[in-house]
Amino acid sequence: MTPFVGQRVAVMGLGKAGFDAARRLRDWGADVTAWDDCADARDRAAAEGLTLRDPAEGLDADALLLSPGIPHTHPVPHAAAQAARAAGVPILCDVEFLFRAVRASGSEARFVGVTGTNGKSTVTALIHHILTTAGRVSEVGGNLGPPALGLNMLWHEGIYTLEMSSYMLERLARMRFNTGVMLNLSPDHLDRHGSMAGYVAAKANIFARQVAGDTAVVGMDDEASAAMAQGRAGFVRRISATTRQPGGVWCDDGVLRDEEGAFCDLREARALPGAHNAQNAAAAAAACLALDVPRAAIAAGVLSYPGLPHRLERVAEFGGVAWINDSKATNADSAARALASYDRVAWIVGGIAKDGGIESLAPWLGRVAKAYLIGRDAPLLAATLARHGVPHAVVGDLASAIAAAHAEAAAPVVLLSPACASWDQFPGFDARGDAFRAQVLALAGGAR
Ligand code: ADP
Repeated sequence: MTPFVGQRVAVMGLGKAGFDAARRLRDWGADVTAWDDCADARDRAAAEGLTLRDPAEGLDADALLLSPGIPHTHPVPHAAAQAARAAGVPILCDVEFLFRAVRASGSEARFVGVTGTNGKSTVTALIHHILTTAGRVSEVGGNLGPPALGLNMLWHEGIYTLEMSSYMLERLARMRFNTGVMLNLSPDHLDRHGSMAGYVAAKANIFARQVAGDTAVVGMDDEASAAMAQGRAGFVRRISATTRQPGGVWCDDGVLRDEEGAFCDLREARALPGAHNAQNAAAAAAACLALDVPRAAIAAGVLSYPGLPHRLERVAEFGGVAWINDSKATNADSAARALASYDRVAWIVGGIAKDGGIESLAPWLGRVAKAYLIGRDAPLLAATLARHGVPHAVVGDLASAIAAAHAEAAAPVVLLSPACASWDQFPGFDARGDAFRAQVLALAGGAR
């Protein structure tokens, strides 16, 4: 018997997560009504036998499951959220329902939640990888990969490893993470949360309702995140990419350490280059220590981690050159992290530039042997590079950039880290990265 039998749940937003949720909740005996502002999604839901009802016409439900993409606070709440508020109906996310179902089943499966401004997906995937290579049962999902209500039910030994966005965190009511991870905090999505205070308050829910025996993993490398270490009920493990943390995990000279000493040389972890990944590895290690994974198994997992697509993904290495796909770097900040991760690069950059272009990258431009500029804003970026005396060529599109970088072999690393959105030439950053990978692998095949 699930806790949802007879409960009236309105599901608003029928993307993958909403769709999975509506079906699962119906299978669990809830009285589900579903809606999406898009007619195609409604047709799919009707074909699946789901009952359609527009929550904006009044909410006759015990809970509203609102897709994380739909605002319920700033700037203008969606009509469904307004209806829920007017009716005093709680607005929840799918993770909350998973938690309730698992706990009601009597399962003691543990929940790990990962949040922060940057690096969430990497840390979530890395924890999952460490756990599974250590022989533990982990289901990974949430904001990354399968939505919460697409995951399998786990029993006592199981662990749910969930990436949590701020949008999801503000829709939790009873959810409690046995291990919560707060990586870092910088201003982001402020339009949505109204202010930095609103954003921080949403993020702080990663530690809500924790009790003695639970663990809060807290990144100490920025002030807003570090402040979260104060006054916690659970055990706090502090982490840092640079500085010793008593009782925690930190990185020193490329090596992960805790109070017992060094336990993993990150210079050997090929999928985790750069200082930002030292923070990610320290956080994942601290979370796994909290889940009783031995240090040697953590090190083995970190070293064998294959990486995520489009984030400093090592696509191929041939003719003494490594080809790196960092298509997820859609702004200058992310590209800065990529440039900082290598000594000398041939850099493929461009697309639709964000405000400020690549001006902020000046401190790292000395690492660029040659830049190959693509996309709409190539001329703008070229002007910046010219001012800083960086060799560059406006080549137009990705295929031309790859061909030119291959022919000229200006550096031991060819890095696609565009610092720009992709919409002018691709449907999204993932399509851009997929195209890069396919073209480089074809080139590698020909070069063998
Ligand atoms: P998220 O899921 O939070 O978007 P990802 O793990 O997908 O983060 O990484 C996206 C990009 O963010 C990376 O390509 C890198 O440029 C940057 N990044 C990753 N980890 C960190 C970190 N710990 N601190 C700052 N930037 C990071």
